Amino acid sequence: MKKYNFNAGPSMLPREVIENTAKQILDFNGSGLSLMEISHRAKDFQPVVDEAEALVKELLNVPEGYSVIFLGGGASLQFMQIPANFLIKKAGYVNSGTWAKKAMKEAKLFGEVVEVASSADDNYTHLPHNYEIPADLDYLHICTNNTIFGTELREDIDAPVRLIADMSSDILSRPVDVSKYDAIYAGAQKNMSMAGVTVIIVKDDVLGKAPRELPTMLDYRTHVEKGSMFNTPPVVPIYTLMETLRWVKAQGGVKEMDRRAHERAEALYAEIDRNKLFRGTVAKEDRSLMNICFVMNDEFKDLEKSFLDFATERGMVGIKGHRSVGGFRASCYNAMTMEGVNALIQTMKDFEAQH
Ligand code: PLP
Repeated sequence: MKKYNFNAGPSMLPREVIENTAKQILDFNGSGLSLMEISHRAKDFQPVVDEAEALVKELLNVPEGYSVIFLGGGASLQFMQIPANFLIKKAGYVNSGTWAKKAMKEAKLFGEVVEVASSADDNYTHLPHNYEIPADLDYLHICTNNTIFGTELREDIDAPVRLIADMSSDILSRPVDVSKYDAIYAGAQKNMSMAGVTVIIVKDDVLGKAPRELPTMLDYRTHVEKGSMFNTPPVVPIYTLMETLRWVKAQGGVKEMDRRAHERAEALYAEIDRNKLFRGTVAKEDRSLMNICFVMNDEFKDLEKSFLDFATERGMVGIKGHRSVGGFRASCYNAMTMEGVNALIQTMKDFEAQH
């Protein structure tokens, strides 16, 4: 039976990315060695890093004066690496969900942290809006897509201070005005690659200002200067990243990814709103195009488990909601097709017809 992968991350990748990577894992560029076995200093691997970096710059239209680096440690390492490098006295955080809160917790180890806005009291069912950004912050940290709660800020805000964004779960799904940010980071295992690599886009002239000695590995300058090769980088995830970036470019770039994201999400939200069994969990204006969260309407609550079983039998994978929201979450990243979304919609319709 055909499977449709709605996992929140690691998540669906384009089939050709997986196939091309698998070929290289078996025999890297005809060398007789696996991609897993080659040295990261091998002459054939440098072009992979170079191409991945160039494609991130090209696809996201990264201006001059920014560097793109690839690190291990996941987005979670960035929760502390960002304040280590950027927090001088005081940083502001928008608390829009679990990941934003985790980032804020780490920053407190490095200086004063102000919660500029929060939607925690409403269990993050909407984004914080209409907040003042104090002008004396070293930076404001936002999370553009809240993977767990299914809210998304799909625009680039103007901030009177440096702006830093966790884009782990919506990077490459829309055009971004990188010039508005001093740093953008994203764990790759949703829209870009397998787990193991984090992409960081950082403005060069803001580095080296933190009033603290940084361990070499934590200082972004180390990795900028060494072209992400200071230590052994995650070779296979970087290769997969390069393949995904090639795929995004061949499909028409981030503008096309944006169009597809709207098409998928509009169809699925329309069904959630129409179907008598379900309702969305998030304020309509803040609905994520990437992570579509919904629950059973109160009078059908008892059917939750049987819908999950019904959907699983039809090949839907990974639609169980995160435990802090409950219900269901269909993650529709770049690789998700309309065929997959339509299969889920048909499943919802068929289940409705039975009840
Ligand atoms: N930020 C966001 C928005 C996420 O969705 C996740 C993981 O799902 C993380 C950060 C943490 O990423 P990692 O597991 O790569 O540390």
